[in-house]
Amino acid sequence: MKTRDRLRIAMQKSGRLTEPALELLTRCGLTFRQSRDKLFCFGEGEPVDLLLVRDDDIPGLIAQGVCDLGIVGRNVLSEFQLTAGRELAPLNELRPLGFGRCRLSIAVPQELDYQLPRHLEGRRIATTYPGLLGEWLRTHGVNAGVVTLAGSVEIAPKLGTADAICDLVQSGGTLVANQLRETDVLLESEAVLAGPLTLPVDERGDMLELLMKRLDGVIQVRESRLLLLQTSRHTLEAVTRLLPGGPQPTLLAVAGQPDQLMLQALCAGEVSWRQLEEIKKAGAREMYVLPVEKMLA
Ligand code: ATP
Ligand code: MG
Repeated sequence: MKTRDRLRIAMQKSGRLTEPALELLTRCGLTFRQSRDKLFCFGEGEPVDLLLVRDDDIPGLIAQGVCDLGIVGRNVLSEFQLTAGRELAPLNELRPLGFGRCRLSIAVPQELDYQLPRHLEGRRIATTYPGLLGEWLRTHGVNAGVVTLAGSVEIAPKLGTADAICDLVQSGGTLVANQLRETDVLLESEAVLAGPLTLPVDERGDMLELLMKRLDGVIQVRESRLLLLQTSRHTLEAVTRLLPGGPQPTLLAVAGQPDQLMLQALCAGEVSWRQLEEIKKAGAREMYVLPVEKMLA
């Protein structure tokens, strides 16, 4: 295959992962010009282009070398790894991306007497994930029929084409609406950055490394807050004890006030009003909570 000098990322053309994936790439400093057929987006600033496809096609495109990376659900990536032919290059989950969270679960009709996986023995289970389901059944030593469907798995028990299902669940609302009960979680999923096992060692490899560093920065700061406050030296210990978890705070001297210190702390998540009030009671003043926009370690 002809080598490319631009990095190419496959992502979902239209669906649950499209918006958050684009937002993540934008936060990494990538901007794109969309082509008229909307299949290909040319990267304007950096040599990184996008291919917009159905999510099921993403692992195959990476394995064939058509794309270097992909943003896809772990469920789709794992299913591909279990079912793809050996002639295709194996893939790797490079980073979890923290959005598109869901789980692949077994669900049974509410009235079915089910406590253990072995109660599925001899039954038919409808799914879009025959690879993952097959592996789970083998692990539990259960012999069940796997009915592979392309969609609308949740109505299979009502139609009589299956006794149970194995499907993606987020809130569980769809299951309840179909009188189904979630019993076992096979896989906890979220969107991931997928790539080949061996990364390219040319300009694309350099760009890939740079992009991963930016991604790490974006993911790390997405929920981070910078807490700034002033405290006197004698309340410093009490204040520090109440700080939300994170790396050691930085202390700065306040000009002309030798007893006072400015404290700066990176917090891993939201800082609540309640926490701020407690810290203030311990002696802090002039408190600010700031969102973190970029970080490069
Ligand atoms: P495509 O047309 O690209 O094949 P799709 O219908 O297969 O789209 P979506 O429904 O957009 O895919 O879901 C994409 C991914 O979003 C899933 O593979 C999964 O990782 C994740 N996801 C998160 N929550 C859910 C959910 N409740 N149901 C289905 N997928 C979910
Ligand atoms: Mg799909």
